[in-house]
Amino acid sequence: MLIGIIAAAVLAAAGLVLWRWKRGRRAPAPRSAKVVPLRAARRRQRSRPGPAAGEQARPCSLCRERSARLSFYIDESGRTIGVCKACRSKAEARELDRL
Ligand SMILES: [Zn+2]
Repeated sequence: MLIGIIAAAVLAAAGLVLWRWKRGRRAPAPRSAKVVPLRAARRRQRSRPGPAAGEQARPCSLCRERSARLSFYIDESGRTIGVCKACRSKAEARELDRL
């Protein structure tokens, strides 16, 4: 009788641990898989020249000089880069696509 109760308690505890472990493992995977690319996609769509909402001057990707107005280009490796006024000619010389 006592063994039966202990066995039931152990089973319940094991089941609870397994259930928590499964939930804990399952939860972060879809979150990181879905949210990150969605954010990246949104950022890609929105990263156009113009006043960014509440953002301060950002550094130029080429000379690191902070500039309130950056022009955005896609570089050779497909990344979006912000280019200050002075470096715009460099980006144009590299024939980068402007966003
Ligand atoms: Zn620059």
